[in-house]
Amino acid sequence: MKFGGTSMAGTERIRRVAGIVKRQQEAGHEVAVVVSAMAGETDRLVNFCREANALYDPAEYDVVVASGEQVTAGLLALTLQAMGCKARSWLGWQVPIKTDAAHAKARIEDIDADSVLASMASGEIAVFPGFQGVSGDNRVTTLGRGGSDTSAVAVAAAVKADRCDIYTDVDGVYTTDPRIVAKAQKLPLVTYEEMLELASVGSKVLQTRSVSLAMKEGVRVQVLSSFVDETAPSADDLPGTMIVSDEELEESDMERQLITGIAADKNEAKVTLTRVPDRPGAVASIFTPLAEANINVDMIIQNVAKDKGETDVTFTAPMADLARTIAMLEERKEQIGYYRLISNDKVAKISVVGVGMRSHAGVASTMFKTLADRGINIQAISTSEIKVSVLIDADETELAVRVLHTAYGLDAKA
Ligand code: ADP
Ligand code: ASP
Ligand code: MG
Repeated sequence: MKFGGTSMAGTERIRRVAGIVKRQQEAGHEVAVVVSAMAGETDRLVNFCREANALYDPAEYDVVVASGEQVTAGLLALTLQAMGCKARSWLGWQVPIKTDAAHAKARIEDIDADSVLASMASGEIAVFPGFQGVSGDNRVTTLGRGGSDTSAVAVAAAVKADRCDIYTDVDGVYTTDPRIVAKAQKLPLVTYEEMLELASVGSKVLQTRSVSLAMKEGVRVQVLSSFVDETAPSADDLPGTMIVSDEELEESDMERQLITGIAADKNEAKVTLTRVPDRPGAVASIFTPLAEANINVDMIIQNVAKDKGETDVTFTAPMADLARTIAMLEERKEQIGYYRLISNDKVAKISVVGVGMRSHAGVASTMFKTLADRGINIQAISTSEIKVSVLIDADETELAVRVLHTAYGLDAKA
């Protein structure tokens, strides 16, 4: 069972979480619980790091930001004990949850679950702070923002859990963010692949890595709400959204729309280099240094203007890396040989995702036509087998998501 930041924000909410955990144990389950820091806490801690030292050492950053989860893990164990349950916390280094040494974005390498399993078998509820681990050289690491989802899936795989229930502040995965589109519908089932695409294009309901890990380890994941009272159906009745394999989806003979979901991401910025020489190696000279600096470039467009021997290159990169990207490209202006660098951080990437796309034409053209009808200009396009993404002006995000939601027939009936 994993509980996110909103679910853990304060004593009252932690008590409700403890009640949900206790009921699962009473239903006959052995339970391991992974918790996030209280809502807003990690942001607060990140700010302290920035204030202390703008160019902070990621290893010390991890020491600071991992603390939020230590607090909630201890508090949940205390609350469970107050309710008469046996419970204890297991910090990352105590398990241990071993990760690589890539501070602030570490990957879990191994979880030795023997002691935890022995404790659980004795009726003790195991409470883990999400987000944190320990590196080979014994330092605290964290898994990247939203990483408690990944902790939960990793713990579930390590203890061979029957299910990994991710409790959050919405009651499942919707056709789009229900806080943006009131007519969004809850999906009873989503495939791993669709969830992976949705997460990677901005549906923050699950961290992308948690979905790829669940897919790889075959962990059964359910997304459901912690904002429920005692009369709510049990998690065992699967009231939330189940992430399933393609086969399970087909067997379910659920009626599927062509598009499963729509996501928006305002965390990318657009960069254009004008008049780049049109010759072999020019594009490599732009993107190789960015790759070496671990900057994840996403959409790329290159227009070849044959007669001039020059071309414009446009791409998107994470907003957080924009300053570094610009600095690196300006440093290499001569070498790359471009004329001007233009950047724009007021853009949004809107993506439509669905496995149905594989066998149906016309998904992209519906998207383009729908946006055109509203006068929304498309600045870049990228596609994959089950996804189409477009880059638009950030101010038009909500409108775009809403009209596309209607155009693909996803609106809930009134
Ligand atoms: P937690 O703190 O529990 O990890 P998050 O804030 O990370 O919760 O994720 C839950 C939020 O994800 C919801 O409040 C919702 O606004 C947002 N969200 C975005 N896209 C979707 C979607 N397709 N379905 C459900 N929630 C979504
Ligand atoms: N507390 C961490 C964050 O805010 C991890 C998580 O909540 O998943 O990113
Ligand atoms: Mg989250």
